[in-house]
Amino acid sequence: MEFLLLVCVFGLAVAAPADGPNAAYDTIVIGMGSAGTTAATELAQSGRKVLALEAQDRIGGRVHTLPFGDGLVELGAEWIHGNVSSRTYALATKHNIDTKLQPLMLDPYRSDGTKPDVAMVRELVDLDFTEEQPNPPEAVGTFVTKKFMEYITKNKPDLLKDQDFITEFLEFSNLLTNNLESSNDWNDVITGGSYEHLGGPQAISWHRHGYKAFFDIMLNKYNNGPGLPNLDIKLNTEVTRVVTPQHPNETVTVECKDGSSYTAKHAIVTVSLGVLKAKHTTLFSLPLPLEKQTAIEKVSMGVVGKVILSFEKAWWPKDVTLFAFIWKGDDKKNVPAEDYWTTRILGAHPPMGSSNTLTLWTSGEVAKQVEKLPEEIVKSKCVALLQRFMGDALKITVPVPTGFLRSTWYLNPYTRGSYSYDNLEAPRYPLARKWLSYPLLDSAGEPRVLFAGEATNERHFSTVHGASETGRREAERLLLMIRGDGNFNVKDFKL
Ligand SMILES: Cc1cc2nc3c(=O)[nH]c(=O)nc-3n(C[C@H](O)[C@H](O)[C@H](O)COP(=O)(O)OP(=O)(O)OC[C@H]3O[C@@H](n4cnc5c(N)ncnc54)[C@H](O)[C@@H]3O)c2cc1C
Repeated sequence: MEFLLLVCVFGLAVAAPADGPNAAYDTIVIGMGSAGTTAATELAQSGRKVLALEAQDRIGGRVHTLPFGDGLVELGAEWIHGNVSSRTYALATKHNIDTKLQPLMLDPYRSDGTKPDVAMVRELVDLDFTEEQPNPPEAVGTFVTKKFMEYITKNKPDLLKDQDFITEFLEFSNLLTNNLESSNDWNDVITGGSYEHLGGPQAISWHRHGYKAFFDIMLNKYNNGPGLPNLDIKLNTEVTRVVTPQHPNETVTVECKDGSSYTAKHAIVTVSLGVLKAKHTTLFSLPLPLEKQTAIEKVSMGVVGKVILSFEKAWWPKDVTLFAFIWKGDDKKNVPAEDYWTTRILGAHPPMGSSNTLTLWTSGEVAKQVEKLPEEIVKSKCVALLQRFMGDALKITVPVPTGFLRSTWYLNPYTRGSYSYDNLEAPRYPLARKWLSYPLLDSAGEPRVLFAGEATNERHFSTVHGASETGRREAERLLLMIRGDGNFNVKDFKL
């Protein structure tokens, strides 16, 4: 009997499903955003047994598509930036998804209910000084202000008499930069950073398909696909510690908040730079190499925020992609201190996934504040802003919204910000993003804990396609190593 029992237990242990708590996997992927989902699916498709652990109750990370208004909206990433060599764009077209262009078509409004010269504002917003980067690099605000003044002195000398307009326009340009970079002030951002645009249009929308389709495609779930048999995904599973193996025979152990732990030969960590800043000292069993710690500290993680309102039906002019809010100096001075944040809203943008919603964009410290304010205050002040800038100029009363959503990328403990940017210190630490990407090695020099995520991409950080590239980079690193490919050189990964 006892012998039988032993056989049964032993037999059960051997036949236990591979997703049992102590089952060994080839690779554990931590985080299922763009980087993690790319890495996990590339490895699973190559025959590796993969476990993906995701702290939140959904896949996507900083891509978060939600049903809202009469369609879908994006709380996180909105567009595909560039279609040349873009993995996101390539996967969309491969699956016959008709993405749509949403080029910047700006319609400016002033805080006193008047309209500035629309053609002139568009011309000035379109000025591009990126071809003439200063050497040495300097703060973006300082540089753009200088170039802007040179431009109007030469091409629009009459404008020099309207100092108020120049100040208002430059303040708007500051906000525009912050909403692109996720910075708090354009003088926190360095010129000539290492970011490179992919070729082609920079605002391509998934519209009613939603950015989430990118993940469904990767997971082989798009159009009711069957998924990937080699990939086990555990949602609501926060990783609290990664035990890095020292000896080549040891496995990587990944411990979770719910008490479970998993082992594998390798792990790929894809948590955001914000999460690394907050938790790297406890997330790893050993202190990270000094270079990696320096990079975590020095690279900036910014915040971009959205407040999304739905209405019974659209009441705003068609074919505009940004209703820009340009504050007059005197109006701004009269705003009470507690409402300062309202002066840092860039404007309103009609997202393409729904016809009756408007997104108000904000950034930096104000974006953090907007995440914390009571919902009723944010909602009512945003409606008042729409009335002040657009309603009065269009001679309409802005209707009461039917729905309200806002992002909380900074408060969210699993993101702690929106995306990384190159700050003024970036030229002093040109290798910082490389350091972020370096794996942790065992005593035989083999990479065992690897790193992916947008901030680890030297040229395409801050984007979904850039994050995806890093997931592929780490999956390929492992696959090359496993196949014993001669191109794999451990020295490439040493700090
Ligand atoms: C408001 C906003 C607008 C944006 N607009 C665009 C845009 O238009 N176009 C564009 O290309 N990009 C845009 N981005 C940037 C883009 O969304 C990100 O660069 C990209 O999605 C990051 O992917 P990632 O895989 O590196 O990180 P994440 O998406 O952050 O994925 C990391 C995952 O790790 C999980 N995690 C964290 N901690 C743990 C833990 N301890 N245990 C387990 N799991 C954990 C997180 O929940 C998350 O799912 C935008 C971002 C924001 C916030």
